[in-house]
Order: sequence, then C-alpha cells, then structure tokens
Amino acid sequence: MKRRVILLGPPGSGKGTIAAQLQQRFGLPHVSSGHLLRKEAESGSPVGKRVQMFLEKGELVPDAIVLELMAGWWNSAPLENGFMLDGFPRALVQAQALDDWLLAKRAPIEVVLLYDCNLEVVLDRITGRLSCPSCGRVYHIRSLPPKVAGRCDAGCAALIQRSDDSESVTRKRFEIYARQAEPMVTYYRHQGKLAVIDATKPPADRFEETVRALN
Ligand code: ADP
Ligand code: AMP
Repeated sequence: MKRRVILLGPPGSGKGTIAAQLQQRFGLPHVSSGHLLRKEAESGSPVGKRVQMFLEKGELVPDAIVLELMAGWWNSAPLENGFMLDGFPRALVQAQALDDWLLAKRAPIEVVLLYDCNLEVVLDRITGRLSCPSCGRVYHIRSLPPKVAGRCDAGCAALIQRSDDSESVTRKRFEIYARQAEPMVTYYRHQGKLAVIDATKPPADRFEETVRALN
C-alpha cells in the first residue's frame, strides 16, 4: 500500500474526514498545515499574530512562514511510517520544496489524491462544520453530529465553528484554491502520481475509492 500521500482538494472536500478514517484503519499519521497554523496563531507568538490575519481573511499564509513551519515536521517526523499531508502543499513553490525535502530523505511522494468537489457542496459542508480546536477532529451539524451536542467525541474540548467557515470567507477560499491548485495538479499529473476521486460521494463510498487508489 502507498503510504506517502498528499490529500489535495478544496476546503470542505473531506480531506480531514478521510484522513481520520485512514489513520484509524491503517495508522497513517495525519499532518494538517491548517491545524498547525491555527495552533501557531493561538500561541500568540509574533509569527502567530501575523498568521491569524491571513486565516481570518481566508487568504494563503505566505510561503516562507508555511515552509518554515512544515520544515519542523519534516525535520522531526519518522517518515518511514508514511504520512498524509492535508492542506500542504497549496502552491507550486510549496510542492517543489516538498519534493526537494523528500528526495533528500529518499522518501518521495507515492500518490496525490485529488478530491474533486463543487462549490455548492463545499458551502453546505463548511457552513455546517463543527471543529475541535484541540485535536482538530471535524463534525457536521446535520450529517455527522457529535455524540453529545457541542462536545468532541474524544472528550477533549467544546466544539467551535471556525471563524473562516462563514459563507463569504469560504467562497474566497474556494476561489483561491481553484487558482492555486491548477499548476500543482498539472505538476503531479506529469509525475504520474495523480488519482482523482469524486468527493461528493457519501463518506463510505469515497473511502472505498480512496483505498483502491492507495493499493
Ligand atoms: P476538508 O478537510 O477538506 O476541509 P472536512 O473533512 O473538514 O473537509 O469536511 C468538511 C465538512 O463536510 C465536515 O463538516 C464533514 O463532517 C463534512 N463531510 C466530509 N465528507 C463528507 C461527505 N462525504 N458527505 C457529507 N459530509 C461530509
Ligand atoms: P485548512 O485547515 O486546510 O482549511 O486551512 C485553513 C487556512 O490555513 C487556509 O485558508 C490558509 O489561510 C491557511 N493555510 C493552510 N495551509 C496552507 C498552506 N499550505 N499555504 C498557505 N496557507 C495555508
């Protein structure tokens, strides 16, 4: 099974949900750049304060900040267990930097799973999303509610609606994604690593299709 994986797709396509399923089934570590950036913002550090401004507006955090944060992961993670990168890379320059890092460790990306999803579905999912600020687990107010209203099933924290999950910010994030993703998709297609998955399907069907792409 392929174990060095990128999850690509617009916000709300279900990358975090899939990652939780794959982590549970195959023990693949999940690395979300969005989660790491939100933790940095929460820390209140000078970099975190800068990051917060981009998160609120739904704009991409500058590459230099993201690459430094992700270099921390690359320097310390035991890559031999594999990984699923979610939200990173988000621009061609990030994809190229990642390839250079992984080449140095002789652990190249094996597959890029592209979760294809339209704006209408994204808006419905994101505006109903509830997130655990502590562990990053996600729920949906209608389709995937927590066992106890407002609480993370893992018992860690009260669930929140992310401030960037409003309709207007989501529209902007979707537009930015569409613009940035195209060159990356071409890049990975040329490498022969791209697998496109219909992300509008129910979670169980989408999971089955994902497992097929990993095998
Ligand atoms: P991403 O990580 O790509 O931003 P998430 O995994 O956080 O997306 O999913 C966004 C929202 O959509 C969450 O509320 C999640 O529960 C819900 N969701 C994810 N996949 C599906 C699906 N296949 N069908 C219906 N709702 C889904
Ligand atoms: P996500 O949790 O993937 O939805 O990301 C939330 C926000 O974090 C995005 O809207 C961006 O502001 C920022 N972000 C996450 N990953 C990256 C990245 N690789 N490059 C730039 N900004 C990012």
